[in-house]
Formats: sequence, structure tokens, C-alpha cells
Amino acid sequence: MADKSDRHPDNVSGKFYVDNSCIGCNVCLEEAPENFDFDEYTDNAYVFKQPKNDDELKACNSALEACPVDAIGDDG
Ligand code: SF4
Repeated sequence: MADKSDRHPDNVSGKFYVDNSCIGCNVCLEEAPENFDFDEYTDNAYVFKQPKNDDELKACNSALEACPVDAIGDDG
């Protein structure tokens, strides 16, 4: 489960976020390229845009489900 108190600083505010346990596998960028990006300095993904429509919401939920280390959180 992602740790809200350990959010990567580049996340935009909003329900979805990535914490610092990310291992940089890029799966979330493949699942939700409109919402997730990658910080090469910290080797950590982050949410650069919260979902704006149903397709993006589905993609973000797929990314959350697919993350192998549960680094993606959803504050609902
Ligand atoms: S799927 Fe999880 S571990 Fe992989 S880059 Fe995204 S947040 Fe990091």
C-alpha cells in the first residue's frame, strides 16, 4: 500500500500519487501515459496530471493495480 506521507515531491495535488518506494519499472507510464511521468534524477515515477475523464481514470486505476510494489496511491 502506498504511503501518503512518503509521496514523491513532483506529484501534482489530487487523489492519485506515487510514493518513494517506486522501483522505476515504467509500467504506470505504459498504462496511463497521460497522467504518469518519470523523474530521471530520482528514478521515481510521479503523477503530473490527475485524470480528467473516464478513460484517464480507468488508465490510472489500471496503473495502480499493475504497480508491482504498490507505490501508487488513491486518496479517493
Ligand atoms: S508501476 Fe509502480 S514501480 Fe513501476 S514506475 Fe510506476 S510507480 Fe514506479
